[in-house]
Amino acid sequence: MKNIAVIGAGTMGNGIAHVFAQNGFTVSLIDVNVIQLEKALATISKNIDRQIAKSLLTEEDKKKTLSNLSTFTDISSGVQNADLIVEAATENVDLKLKIFKQLDEAAPSKTILATNTSSISITKIASVTKRPDSVIGMHFMNPVPVMKLVEIINGYATTKEVTEKIVALSKQLGKIPCVVNDYPGFIANRILMPMINEAIYSLYEGVAGVEEIDTVMKLGMAHPMGPLQLADFIGLDVCLSILNVLNDGFGNPKYAPCPLLVNMVTAGKTGVKSGEGFYSYSAGNKDLIVSHRFKK
Ligand code: NAD
Repeated sequence: MKNIAVIGAGTMGNGIAHVFAQNGFTVSLIDVNVIQLEKALATISKNIDRQIAKSLLTEEDKKKTLSNLSTFTDISSGVQNADLIVEAATENVDLKLKIFKQLDEAAPSKTILATNTSSISITKIASVTKRPDSVIGMHFMNPVPVMKLVEIINGYATTKEVTEKIVALSKQLGKIPCVVNDYPGFIANRILMPMINEAIYSLYEGVAGVEEIDTVMKLGMAHPMGPLQLADFIGLDVCLSILNVLNDGFGNPKYAPCPLLVNMVTAGKTGVKSGEGFYSYSAGNKDLIVSHRFKK
């Protein structure tokens, strides 16, 4: 594999494009929104500067990485030569089905189609293509350049050969792949999201404030970040979509999203990317929001 196309240049898409480009692959980064593409290139450049400051990369590596990247706003021109496409567009079933239909028509028949979805069924996504055997989940973790895990999800029809290729490719990126089967939330989010939802319920029910909840989980469980800060970092809209997939997929009310999460997303408070979630990020720092402080 040499040519990679990444669909979506948001939080995950820019990180995925960065990691492939840094490892010598030619990357076409595609987004419908040209501003997102510009932001993605700026973020990649800033993140490489951080790696240079830590002596992990050199200026020469930066030049090579950036020269491996091209941007497109149109799917069909961006995927012409792709050996692999990694879709990282917004977490929405209808959107993903539409994109995969488009990709199936525009990409060469040998191209493997991967999705970075956090929770949507790989089998369902594969079902709208004429190559369900070559559709697979390639679930990178945020921030992609830093996090080692790639959760690889076999759809019902994914062939062993395709899985083996994606496992080998993940190792080539310096990642550690872990193969799982296609059920709602896979492994990572089936376990993580109920924890985040329970943290939001604890806030909603007034058991504790944001700071107390995050401190208990950070210090008590040795988590590097509390669940509410992590939710802000993932995106509260993404968390809500995943909980809805778990709730619908298992039909079990234990996965029902907390009403506070629903309200915050409706109000546009989606976390770091909107400048406010459980914390405020407007000053470039992480600050507590008064209404989320603990009231005894
Ligand atoms: P995001 O909102 O930051 O970015 C989504 C991008 O998709 C936007 O730039 C948007 O313009 C673009 N987009 C929308 N429609 C498109 C189309 N038709 N063609 C091309 N681009 C389109 O979202 P994100 O957080 O980067 O999430 C992307 C995917 O990665 C989702 O499936 C999400 O579940 C998954 N994921 C997210 C995280 C996380 O921590 N945020 C972690 C793992 C996986």
